[in-house]
Amino acid sequence: MQGADSLRDLIREVPDFPRPGISFKDVTPLLASPTGLAGAVSAMAAAAADIRPDLVVGIESRGFIFGVPLALTLGCGFVPVRKPGKLPAAVLRQTYALEYGSDSIEIHADAVAPGQRLLLVDDLLATGGTMVAAASLATQLGGEVAGICFLVELTFLGGRDRLRPYRVDSILQY
Ligand code: AMP
Repeated sequence: MQGADSLRDLIREVPDFPRPGISFKDVTPLLASPTGLAGAVSAMAAAAADIRPDLVVGIESRGFIFGVPLALTLGCGFVPVRKPGKLPAAVLRQTYALEYGSDSIEIHADAVAPGQRLLLVDDLLATGGTMVAAASLATQLGGEVAGICFLVELTFLGGRDRLRPYRVDSILQY
Protein backbone atom coordinates (compact mmCIF):
# COMPACT_ATOMS: atom_id res chain seq x y z
CA MET A 1 0.00 0.00 0.00
CA GLN A 2 1.15 3.49 -0.78
CA GLY A 3 1.80 5.91 2.10
CA ALA A 4 -0.36 8.98 2.55
CA ASP A 5 2.52 11.30 1.62
CA SER A 6 3.02 9.71 -1.80
CA LEU A 7 -0.75 9.77 -2.42
CA ARG A 8 -0.70 13.47 -1.57
CA ASP A 9 2.04 14.00 -4.18
CA LEU A 10 -0.38 12.64 -6.81
CA ILE A 11 -3.08 15.23 -6.05
CA ARG A 12 -2.68 18.33 -8.18
CA GLU A 13 -3.78 21.65 -6.75
CA VAL A 14 -5.31 23.86 -9.42
CA PRO A 15 -5.63 27.47 -8.21
CA ASP A 16 -8.75 29.49 -8.98
CA PHE A 17 -10.82 26.59 -10.34
CA PRO A 18 -13.76 26.57 -10.84
CA ARG A 19 -13.85 30.08 -9.36
CA PRO A 20 -11.28 32.63 -8.15
CA GLY A 21 -10.08 31.77 -4.64
CA ILE A 22 -10.83 28.02 -4.83
CA SER A 23 -7.85 25.67 -4.77
CA PHE A 24 -9.21 22.64 -6.62
CA LYS A 25 -7.82 19.25 -5.52
CA ASP A 26 -7.50 17.40 -8.81
CA VAL A 27 -7.33 13.62 -8.33
CA THR A 28 -6.80 12.77 -12.02
CA PRO A 29 -2.99 12.31 -11.66
CA LEU A 30 -3.68 9.86 -8.80
CA LEU A 31 -6.26 8.01 -10.92
CA ALA A 32 -3.75 7.74 -13.77
CA SER A 33 -1.14 6.16 -11.49
CA PRO A 34 -1.56 2.38 -11.02
CA THR A 35 0.05 2.52 -7.57
CA GLY A 36 -1.80 5.72 -6.67
CA LEU A 37 -5.19 4.35 -7.60
CA ALA A 38 -4.61 1.04 -5.83
CA GLY A 39 -3.09 2.81 -2.84
CA ALA A 40 -6.01 5.22 -2.50
CA VAL A 41 -8.62 2.45 -2.70
CA SER A 42 -6.77 0.18 -0.29
CA ALA A 43 -6.26 3.04 2.20
CA MET A 44 -9.98 3.86 2.09
CA ALA A 45 -10.86 0.15 2.42
CA ALA A 46 -8.53 -0.22 5.41
CA ALA A 47 -10.05 2.85 7.09
CA ALA A 48 -13.59 1.53 6.59
CA ALA A 49 -13.05 -2.24 6.93
CA ASP A 50 -14.49 -2.58 10.45
CA ILE A 51 -17.71 -0.84 9.37
CA ARG A 52 -18.83 -4.00 7.55
CA PRO A 53 -21.33 -2.24 5.29
CA ASP A 54 -24.05 -3.95 3.29
CA LEU A 55 -23.75 -1.27 0.62
CA VAL A 56 -21.40 1.47 -0.48
CA VAL A 57 -23.31 4.62 -1.49
CA GLY A 58 -21.23 6.80 -3.85
CA ILE A 59 -21.92 10.38 -4.89
CA GLU A 60 -21.69 11.42 -8.55
CA SER A 61 -19.22 11.56 -10.01
CA ARG A 62 -15.89 11.08 -8.24
CA GLY A 63 -17.67 9.16 -5.49
CA PHE A 64 -18.38 6.54 -8.18
CA ILE A 65 -14.70 6.28 -9.14
CA PHE A 66 -13.65 5.45 -5.57
CA GLY A 67 -16.89 3.88 -4.35
CA VAL A 68 -17.11 1.00 -6.82
CA PRO A 69 -13.61 -0.45 -6.20
CA LEU A 70 -14.19 0.12 -2.49
CA ALA A 71 -17.41 -1.92 -2.68
CA LEU A 72 -15.58 -4.69 -4.56
CA THR A 73 -12.78 -4.67 -1.97
CA LEU A 74 -15.22 -4.75 0.96
CA GLY A 75 -17.38 -7.40 -0.71
CA CYS A 76 -20.59 -5.40 -0.85
CA GLY A 77 -22.85 -3.78 -3.44
CA PHE A 78 -22.88 -0.21 -4.73
CA VAL A 79 -25.66 2.40 -4.90
CA PRO A 80 -25.27 5.62 -6.91
CA VAL A 81 -26.45 9.02 -5.68
CA ARG A 82 -26.86 11.14 -8.80
CA LYS A 83 -27.55 14.63 -10.05
CA PRO A 84 -31.22 15.28 -10.85
CA GLY A 85 -32.80 13.62 -13.86
CA LYS A 86 -30.21 10.86 -14.32
CA LEU A 87 -31.73 7.93 -12.42
CA PRO A 88 -34.46 6.20 -14.47
CA ALA A 89 -36.80 4.75 -11.82
CA ALA A 90 -38.68 6.38 -8.92
CA VAL A 91 -36.35 8.63 -6.87
CA LEU A 92 -36.08 10.49 -3.62
CA ARG A 93 -34.60 13.98 -4.04
CA GLN A 94 -32.77 16.18 -1.53
CA THR A 95 -32.02 19.85 -2.15
CA TYR A 96 -29.20 21.58 -0.30
CA ALA A 97 -27.82 25.11 -0.09
CA LEU A 98 -24.67 26.21 -1.89
CA GLU A 99 -22.72 29.42 -1.37
CA TYR A 100 -24.78 30.87 -4.21
CA GLY A 101 -28.09 29.09 -4.84
CA SER A 102 -28.86 25.44 -4.30
CA ASP A 103 -28.28 21.99 -5.72
CA SER A 104 -30.08 18.64 -5.58
CA ILE A 105 -29.14 14.96 -5.55
CA GLU A 106 -31.28 11.86 -6.03
CA ILE A 107 -31.29 8.20 -5.05
CA HIS A 108 -33.52 5.41 -6.32
CA ALA A 109 -36.39 5.00 -3.87
CA ASP A 110 -35.83 1.23 -3.69
CA ALA A 111 -32.01 1.37 -3.52
CA VAL A 112 -31.74 0.73 0.22
CA ALA A 113 -33.70 -1.70 2.37
CA PRO A 114 -34.59 -0.60 5.92
CA GLY A 115 -31.80 -1.45 8.36
CA GLN A 116 -29.06 -1.90 5.78
CA ARG A 117 -25.65 -0.67 6.92
CA LEU A 118 -24.31 1.98 4.56
CA LEU A 119 -20.85 3.35 3.87
CA LEU A 120 -21.17 6.73 2.14
CA VAL A 121 -18.27 7.66 -0.15
CA ASP A 122 -17.03 10.74 -1.99
CA ASP A 123 -13.61 11.89 -3.12
CA LEU A 124 -13.51 15.06 -1.06
CA LEU A 125 -15.11 16.63 2.00
CA ALA A 126 -15.35 20.42 1.72
CA THR A 127 -18.26 22.13 3.53
CA GLY A 128 -20.08 18.82 3.94
CA GLY A 129 -23.30 20.04 2.33
CA THR A 130 -23.35 17.35 -0.33
CA MET A 131 -22.71 14.54 2.14
CA VAL A 132 -25.29 15.85 4.65
CA ALA A 133 -27.84 15.67 1.81
CA ALA A 134 -26.72 12.15 0.85
CA ALA A 135 -26.96 11.00 4.48
CA SER A 136 -30.46 12.47 4.64
CA LEU A 137 -31.51 10.48 1.54
CA ALA A 138 -30.01 7.30 2.99
CA THR A 139 -31.77 7.66 6.32
CA GLN A 140 -35.09 8.62 4.70
CA LEU A 141 -34.95 5.20 3.01
CA GLY A 142 -34.43 3.54 6.40
CA GLY A 143 -30.73 2.85 5.92
CA GLU A 144 -28.21 3.13 8.73
CA VAL A 145 -25.28 5.45 7.95
CA ALA A 146 -22.59 3.26 9.51
CA GLY A 147 -19.72 5.37 8.20
CA ILE A 148 -18.62 8.04 5.73
CA CYS A 149 -15.30 7.85 3.90
CA PHE A 150 -13.43 10.46 1.83
CA LEU A 151 -10.05 10.37 0.18
CA VAL A 152 -9.47 14.09 0.89
CA GLU A 153 -10.72 16.30 3.72
CA LEU A 154 -10.40 20.10 3.68
CA THR A 155 -10.31 20.37 7.48
CA PHE A 156 -10.41 24.20 7.53
CA LEU A 157 -13.98 24.16 6.15
CA GLY A 158 -15.36 22.22 9.11
CA GLY A 159 -17.40 19.72 7.08
CA ARG A 160 -16.76 17.04 9.69
CA ASP A 161 -18.70 19.06 12.28
CA ARG A 162 -21.75 19.21 10.00
CA LEU A 163 -21.64 15.41 9.69
CA ARG A 164 -21.77 14.80 13.42
CA PRO A 165 -22.63 12.30 14.89
CA TYR A 166 -21.66 10.10 11.94
CA ARG A 167 -18.30 8.41 11.86
CA VAL A 168 -16.10 10.16 9.26
CA ASP A 169 -12.81 8.79 7.91
CA SER A 170 -10.46 10.56 5.49
CA ILE A 171 -7.07 9.56 4.14
CA LEU A 172 -5.51 12.96 3.31
CA GLN A 173 -6.14 16.14 5.24
CA TYR A 174 -5.44 19.71 4.04
P1 AMP B 1 -19.12 20.03 -0.13
O1 AMP B 1 -20.57 19.71 -0.32
O2 AMP B 1 -18.86 21.49 0.09
O3 AMP B 1 -18.48 19.17 0.95
O4 AMP B 1 -18.39 19.73 -1.51
C1 AMP B 1 -18.08 18.44 -1.82
C2 AMP B 1 -18.15 18.16 -3.29
O5 AMP B 1 -17.59 19.22 -4.09
C3 AMP B 1 -17.34 16.92 -3.60
O6 AMP B 1 -18.06 16.14 -4.52
C4 AMP B 1 -16.05 17.45 -4.18
O7 AMP B 1 -15.63 16.64 -5.23
C5 AMP B 1 -16.36 18.85 -4.66
N1 AMP B 1 -15.36 19.84 -4.18
C6 AMP B 1 -15.59 20.87 -3.32
N2 AMP B 1 -14.50 21.59 -3.11
C7 AMP B 1 -13.52 21.04 -3.83
C8 AMP B 1 -12.11 21.32 -4.03
N3 AMP B 1 -11.50 22.35 -3.42
N4 AMP B 1 -11.41 20.51 -4.84
C9 AMP B 1 -12.02 19.47 -5.46
N5 AMP B 1 -13.32 19.15 -5.32
C10 AMP B 1 -14.06 19.92 -4.53
